[in-house]
Amino acid sequence: MPRSILSLPYSALERELVADGLKPPHARTLWKALYRDPATAFLPPLQRWVAEHLGPGKRFTHEPLVEVLTDLKSSDLQTRKFLLGLEDGQKIETVLMGYPGRFTACVSTQAGCAMGCVFCATGQMGFVRHLRAEEIVAQVLHVQSALRQRSAVPALLRNLVLMGMGEPLHNYDNVIAALQIIADPRGIALAPSRISISTVGVVPGILRLAEEKQPYNLAVSLHGATEEQRAALVPISRRWPLAELIAACRTYGETTGRKIFFEWTLIAGTNDSPAQAAQLAGLLSGLDAHVNLIPLNPTGGFSGMATGTAAAEQFQAVLMESGIPSTIRQLRGIDVAAGCGQLKAAQRSS
Ligand code: SAH
Ligand code: SF4
Repeated sequence: MPRSILSLPYSALERELVADGLKPPHARTLWKALYRDPATAFLPPLQRWVAEHLGPGKRFTHEPLVEVLTDLKSSDLQTRKFLLGLEDGQKIETVLMGYPGRFTACVSTQAGCAMGCVFCATGQMGFVRHLRAEEIVAQVLHVQSALRQRSAVPALLRNLVLMGMGEPLHNYDNVIAALQIIADPRGIALAPSRISISTVGVVPGILRLAEEKQPYNLAVSLHGATEEQRAALVPISRRWPLAELIAACRTYGETTGRKIFFEWTLIAGTNDSPAQAAQLAGLLSGLDAHVNLIPLNPTGGFSGMATGTAAAEQFQAVLMESGIPSTIRQLRGIDVAAGCGQLKAAQRSS
């Protein structure tokens, strides 16, 4: 099978071109065409290389790796959710969220997920396979082209979150390879400080991010502040207990000097009491942390309900008293099933 050109970091593409007798700047032109401006013109040597090596049945392919199966817009038109088909028939979700003057893309890193969080539609599906680096890059290219079609003035994709289907740190190598391409200033050029990796708490992955000094933001999904409470929602917590996870976060914070974001899905009567907020504050004390409180998006396989606004605000007030900053995230695009894995789950059951 020909390799996808979207899997090649800049330096590798440059090497391939030079080995074929072209000059290093040709890599820059080809990357511009692939990642910034499809109308970029090629000089004859690059034109010949592209005709010879790029295309169906040739050495490299740039076939669209994703096919749009469903394209849903939320009623307020602020959230657009795509169900994308991969070459082997797997389906993944990519979400584009609009905020005034900027857009955030939320991409998937796996088909399904092995971590089994009880409230998550993707977890309820189980694991199918890792996405290849180019399948992650292709999702970003897809939302970019959706933004381009939307208006004559190119709308800006400013932020990227790895919060779609799958656990990014369970697919570490492909995720980091994709981010290297996505953040490269010669291509899509998303600033690493605007890219966030969200993990359920894969401890070796967090330590590796720190050791390799990867420049991206880290978000850790906690949902419980005691071993027992967390393990009931996040089964993988038995493998990497909370104490180990928090220790890894402290190492990460000390090594990188960066703030860590903690995600807390608020489930009514389960993890939303003031006492649990106080436990969370205790757990995070001494860490440079910001907590994102996300009221549950109800899913078919879980009977829990979202915490109401008053209780969410009370939870937040307890964190604030302990000096822990937090944000209550509004539910985006709930009418397009924009919770992780929910669109695919909805299609399967209909
Ligand atoms: N696997 C990674 C990233 C994908 S999930 C992780 O777990 O962090 C992205 C975020 O969505 C996580 O914080 C997860 O807990 C949250 N999430 C999943 N299902 C949800 C639901 N039904 N309602 C609210 N948040 C949900
Ligand atoms: Fe996987 Fe994240 Fe869903 Fe948990 S919340 S099952 S880790 S995608």
